[in-house]
Amino acid sequence: MPRYEYRCRSCGDTFELSRPMAESASPATCPAGHPDTVKLLSTVSVAGTGSSPAPAPSGGGAGCCGGGCCG
Ligand SMILES: [Zn+2]
Repeated sequence: MPRYEYRCRSCGDTFELSRPMAESASPATCPAGHPDTVKLLSTVSVAGTGSSPAPAPSGGGAGCCGGGCCG
């Protein structure tokens, strides 16, 4: 279950909640009971939009010529 970070605009506290992705947009209540919270950007990278460790082959050859096996 993904974790989402929220910040309370009443007391300025930040807290995390583990909730289903379908409820990520639902309002969260701060641990102190304040309902005025905002959802922060997730600190956990779920999608693979970052840099991958291995470069993708540009020739379309899948499974070979990527690790020097065809050298
Ligand atoms: Zn609060």
